Amino acid sequence: MRGTVYKSTGSWYTVKEDDGRFIECRIKGKFRLKGIKSTNPVAVGDIVKFEIELLGDDRIGVISEIEDRKNYIIRKSVNLSKQTHIIAANLDQVFLIITLNNPKTYTLFIDRFLVTAEAYEIPAVLLFNKVDSYDDDELTEVKYLAAMYRDIGYRCVGISAKTGKNIDQVKQLMKDKTSMFAGHSGVGKSTLINQLEPHLEIKTAEISEQHLQGQHTTTFAEMHDLSFGARIIDTPGIKGFGIVDMEPAEIGDYFPEFFALKGDCKFNNCLHLDEPKCAVKAALENDEVSWSRYKSYVQMVTGDDDTYRIDNYGE
Ligand code: GDP
Ligand code: ZN
Repeated sequence: MRGTVYKSTGSWYTVKEDDGRFIECRIKGKFRLKGIKSTNPVAVGDIVKFEIELLGDDRIGVISEIEDRKNYIIRKSVNLSKQTHIIAANLDQVFLIITLNNPKTYTLFIDRFLVTAEAYEIPAVLLFNKVDSYDDDELTEVKYLAAMYRDIGYRCVGISAKTGKNIDQVKQLMKDKTSMFAGHSGVGKSTLINQLEPHLEIKTAEISEQHLQGQHTTTFAEMHDLSFGARIIDTPGIKGFGIVDMEPAEIGDYFPEFFALKGDCKFNNCLHLDEPKCAVKAALENDEVSWSRYKSYVQMVTGDDDTYRIDNYGE
């Protein structure tokens, strides 16, 4: 038998069978997973094989195999064991909800999120919410930002979770896929989910830079089916999309527009900082790479990001 893990409580897993029924499963033996020491061998989103066992009148499953994950997001444990917890697996996309104010989403925050999504190999979509509340200047800023991120290849949609504007587009993007929502507290995640599916009671993940480390909660992710044929993974209590350990030299590879130019830099290990004949800096001078993105990059590479409040996205 085969199915998808919808919920886990640590020792029991709720699996949706391919025929649509739900079955409670446990794990058989120990799983060894390539390259990763995780506290949980099976995560929400995993596709598993299991055998049916009859316990009296109860039908339970015994998971014997996990199909290869196309991606997974993790949280590092705070203790010294350096173990990781797999929050969710097999995501088709992550939506980052962005607002210009109340709260303000800074470009460094967006760029860090995108770098993490790239490292996880999960397509990211940017949703600019609360467009109903912006004045002309703010709408211009949304257009500017959306154009900038579209040029790099990210899908961007201006929405209003309140009025329903462009929510159909979001539904279209979500259909037949597994998605996750992220964004600062107050950007409208609950309002959006309520627009997508009224009466679905879920809490969404808040991602917060201050809490990337040191957060440890015991709540578990859960997958929900939405009526229009979409799935969302809810990660209550988990602050953070997780963060991947990265060497400075790797970060540029997760800026797609920099990565595309890397081969043209004089040095193949160019960090695009002070090196001569750097193709990224040349593109920056020619306005082919945005200053906002470059500033985020420098802050990430040099570690000079104790403040991620960048008010200007141009120079
Ligand atoms: P969450 O913390 O991300 O779940 O944010 P909420 O969904 O709780 O929304 C925070 C506040 O923003 C609430 O007062 C919402 O009514 C408001 N809000 C959410 N979406 C919109 C929107 O599209 N337009 C406006 N004007 N307000 C919104
Ligand atoms: Zn370079």
